[in-house]
Amino acid sequence: SSRVIAIDGPAGTGKSTVSKLLAQRVGAHYLDTGAMYRAATLAVQRAGVSPDAPDSIAAVVDDARIELRADGSGGSRVFLDGEDVSAPIRTDEVTNAVSAVSAVPAVRSKMVALQRIHAVDDFVVVEGRDIGTVVFPDAQVKIYLTATPEARALRRHRQNLSAGRDSDFEQVLEGVNRRDHLDSTRTVSPLRPADDAVIVDTSDLSLEQVLDKLAGLVQT
Ligand code: C5P
Repeated sequence: SSRVIAIDGPAGTGKSTVSKLLAQRVGAHYLDTGAMYRAATLAVQRAGVSPDAPDSIAAVVDDARIELRADGSGGSRVFLDGEDVSAPIRTDEVTNAVSAVSAVPAVRSKMVALQRIHAVDDFVVVEGRDIGTVVFPDAQVKIYLTATPEARALRRHRQNLSAGRDSDFEQVLEGVNRRDHLDSTRTVSPLRPADDAVIVDTSDLSLEQVLDKLAGLVQT
């Protein structure tokens, strides 16, 4: 049987870093479901299909082979038709189109099925938007990370600057608000906490504080 720790929440809450480190700390595998939706989006862009053509998007993603593999140091790499696309899925182009692609029901059902297969007979920390609500409603622990839009935009802004990218705080904040709106108002699997999720606001917490809190929730 499997043991699942579900971690959901919007972008910029420190979710990826926290999920990866939590998995290491508790000895679980780490599953980054956002990377799968990003790989699907890259497939759509490479096929030259517009983000507002749901039927064509569904067809491209149906044909695409998307795989997650452990990277040996606690993280994971994502593959599209056998090619490691872990870097190209992080461009702004993909980030701006991923909400549209992940709103297509056929895309979601394929990704959800893949995610369930990945967890069979395993102990996993699964990070995403609908893990506690849709993918693993029986997860042992459900955590919903949240933070104010300003705190999340500031994290993203600092990440951009330290990666040597141009960044304008107001513009980043606008992007955060736009993606929140799209993800929480879409008709399929909107972003929301599961009824039995523990909500953790990370606005004023350090990474260590968040990790300690989550590790405490996992131990039973
Ligand atoms: O976590 P990350 O920012 O990489 O996710 C990218 C996008 O993928 C999200 O903004 C959301 O639109 C979509 N996503 C989703 N369901 C998930 C994970 C990600 O719809 N479980």
